[in-house]
Amino acid sequence: MNNFRHIINTLTAATHRTLAWVQQIEHSTSVRRSFIITGATLCVLIAAQASLLIVNHARHQYPIVGLRLEHQRISDTQNQELSHRLPKIAAPYLDRQITIKAGSYQQHVSPRQLGARLDEQSLTQYITTQGHEGGLLEQIIAQDRALIGQDDLPLDFSVMDTGVASAYLAKISQTVSQKPSDAHFAYQNNSVTIVPDTSGTELSSDEAFTLLTHANLTDKTTVLTLPVATKSATIHTADLRAFKPAVERLATAPLTINAESAQVTLSPQQLVDMAQVKLSADPTHPTNTVPTLTFDETKINSTLDQVAAQVNIGGQPRYIRGRTVLSSGQQGVSLSGSESKVALVTELLRREHAKTASPSSQPTTLALPVQHIDPPTVDVRDANNPLNNYAGQYSGATQVSGQNVVYLTFDDGPGGATEQTLDILKRYGLHSTFFLVGRNIVSYPNTVKRIVAEGHAIGNHSYTHSDLSRMSAPKVLDELTHTQAVFQSTIGQVPTLFRPPYGAMSPIVINTTNQLGLHLMMWNVDPRDWSKPGSKVIADRVLSAVKPGSIILLHSIHQQTVDALPSIIEGLRARGYVIR
Ligand code: ZN
Repeated sequence: MNNFRHIINTLTAATHRTLAWVQQIEHSTSVRRSFIITGATLCVLIAAQASLLIVNHARHQYPIVGLRLEHQRISDTQNQELSHRLPKIAAPYLDRQITIKAGSYQQHVSPRQLGARLDEQSLTQYITTQGHEGGLLEQIIAQDRALIGQDDLPLDFSVMDTGVASAYLAKISQTVSQKPSDAHFAYQNNSVTIVPDTSGTELSSDEAFTLLTHANLTDKTTVLTLPVATKSATIHTADLRAFKPAVERLATAPLTINAESAQVTLSPQQLVDMAQVKLSADPTHPTNTVPTLTFDETKINSTLDQVAAQVNIGGQPRYIRGRTVLSSGQQGVSLSGSESKVALVTELLRREHAKTASPSSQPTTLALPVQHIDPPTVDVRDANNPLNNYAGQYSGATQVSGQNVVYLTFDDGPGGATEQTLDILKRYGLHSTFFLVGRNIVSYPNTVKRIVAEGHAIGNHSYTHSDLSRMSAPKVLDELTHTQAVFQSTIGQVPTLFRPPYGAMSPIVINTTNQLGLHLMMWNVDPRDWSKPGSKVIADRVLSAVKPGSIILLHSIHQQTVDALPSIIEGLRARGYVIR
């Protein structure tokens, strides 16, 4: 306080001297006014500087003043003094060595390595989350005293990064934890041995975490022992002893499994691996468990899968037309899953219960049942089909009954505009040909029935309308036969005409078409109605290109085609053509 009095005295004396000097030069009013303003400003500045000095001085002597400003002070990064001092205060606490023990694990670490932090940021965070309630106020007063160097540091470990502590614990847990292993049978030096059970260990993670994060920074503890629990095996060595002779009988000789041409041999080692002792409820005392010898389900299944992989061949379909087989299908075979399993387990049980345990080097064989599969038949017969001869009428004929003829064909249906197409053809009394897409037939079965009922010809236009020239033979065959099958189930008959989508051909497409007894039918007038150029353009393109014998390609799924159709029909008739 002497300093304070000295500052006030100095300040008073200075003010007196300034006022006396001002009185001496009072003769000029303007000069006087400016001097008074300058003097007052100086006084205010000096007074402000003095109060700052007083507060700062008092703060050092009385920490409680610091406490009132504490929140701002700690979070105030401008406070150079604190930010320089805090790391120095904290270092001895953060870097002291603690020995962490957990089972056989032992390591020296510092609180800092465990995630403890003590800087302005962590402290502000701590105070903000904890608040200034209850007993914490005293703790903060104590911290405040400690921070300005007056006390020990009673800081809690809670000012720590729990993520770092968790990661550290996970690492210890990995080192300390060991799975218990059940006793099991092994095959060594041509005999069956019992591998004894071993117990495992496990770090009690929750307790360890509490211990680690609740340790005090100023705690004098140098050794921290984390709890480790023992985990014991389920099947013990004693449980296995009674079954050893049975397992020895199981392993007397290799077991060869045959099925058709497949052959898999299980060695004594593999047979021993299949034996498994499990605990199951005692039928006489249900609260007790008794050990039982059983066979490993997974190993039995994987053995049978190995055999099946060699045996199973699916039957390839064969195609017939009328009563003639077009291509021979292949017979298939398959391993009967459930019967094979019964056969294998029966053989294992037979060995287990055999009267004699005399070892034999002769392998025993086991034949597993195999099922033969006949190839499925796909019928693409065309017998008695009134549409059969229809294609013949097109064979390049340019005239019918002495009159020039042209042919209208409609692709890609059935679809939304097909019904309108049929209405128009009916109105003009015409019959033409519809090349239909298999999957569209499924969507519009009634339209297909109407097409046939009204006397039009039908053709196969593939099932998915894909580019068949890019497909393998089995795929092309499937596209064509699938569509034939859909025709058969929808209208009770199959077409004999075929037109490939986009006109895309390949030797495979031609061979498959011949194989199924289908006739290819292309076109030679294409107004490209699918590009929707307008109904007038479509009609003009047809009428300007047409010649006797022309096969005109149209599509029964576009409105512009429907709109152009009357003009096309009338235009053709005006030119003297018979339309088929
Ligand atoms: Zn098409």
